[in-house]
Amino acid sequence: MTAIQSGKGTIGFTTTVPVELIFAAGYEPCDLNNIFVNDPDPQRFIDRAEYDGFPKGMCSWIKGIYGVIMEHEMAGVITVMEGDCSNTQALAEILRYRGMRTIPFSFPYDRDGKVLSREIEKLKKELGADRASIIEVERQIDITRSKLSEIDTMTWSERNVTGGENHLWLVRSSDMLGNIMEYSEAAGNFIADARKRERMQGIALGYIGVPPIMTGLYEFIESVGGHVVYNETQRQFSIPCAAPDMVERYLLYTYPYGIFTRLDDINREIERRGIKGIIHYVQAFCFRAIEDVILRDTIPVPILTIEGDLPKALDARTKMRIEAFIEMLEGRQD
Ligand code: SF4
Repeated sequence: MTAIQSGKGTIGFTTTVPVELIFAAGYEPCDLNNIFVNDPDPQRFIDRAEYDGFPKGMCSWIKGIYGVIMEHEMAGVITVMEGDCSNTQALAEILRYRGMRTIPFSFPYDRDGKVLSREIEKLKKELGADRASIIEVERQIDITRSKLSEIDTMTWSERNVTGGENHLWLVRSSDMLGNIMEYSEAAGNFIADARKRERMQGIALGYIGVPPIMTGLYEFIESVGGHVVYNETQRQFSIPCAAPDMVERYLLYTYPYGIFTRLDDINREIERRGIKGIIHYVQAFCFRAIEDVILRDTIPVPILTIEGDLPKALDARTKMRIEAFIEMLEGRQD
């Protein structure tokens, strides 16, 4: 077994990247989105960005990420320039201007394997990850991802995992909270505990779109008779297609490659998981809201589109809309 060096500091990133390389190079990976939204006072990161001149009418995730970086010491930030967010280029520029080491990485929109392979090579060199360490990290991460896949499957087949738990396990897999083996062990313990539970009831729902910025969404859905059995993007963050080759693995990851690639995955999972309705989350001021037009035309089950803006509790109007949506779906079952 190869000893992976560690202790070189934290590498933040703006969305899921080949995290294997960060671990293998001896850094601690940190998904900036998760730090932002799980903070007890996430609004302060947004306030910091606006104080520094970020516009009011801009996505809160971008401002939150910026605020997190300004407050934390980091050895660098991987900025995903293609395949995530149209605002990242400007974010990368301001970070460089503030003296932060930024490392650009791109997922080619046309899913070209050669281009992705070049990007992965560049990242590997920039971080200084050697081959033996990468192989060892891949071995460990593979074990962890299979446990995450088991948690995901339990959510819809055994129905003993809540939508909120599914969300958290999968969304945090982008950096595995900085430690692969600890995350793996915690996932194993969770599986053993969840298997002792009763089967959950509730209309099977899917959640698609970027992860929610607000709190209390999953809990509310369950309180009014729904059960989210599919979290599209969060599941993708856990790299559910276990290909041995890294390039192939990140080509099968759908999130960066546009709506049509995502649609294939969404429709397959609706069928497989017996999903009766979809909740499409859109973030205020996000260009991805336009994709709702295509989703409404192509998804075979009813869709409810909800919007979030700030990291605060689910609002009363959205609660009423979710409740009415679930009642409508229940009516269709009769
Ligand atoms: S929600 Fe949309 S605008 Fe905001 S960071 Fe994500 S992709 Fe960018």
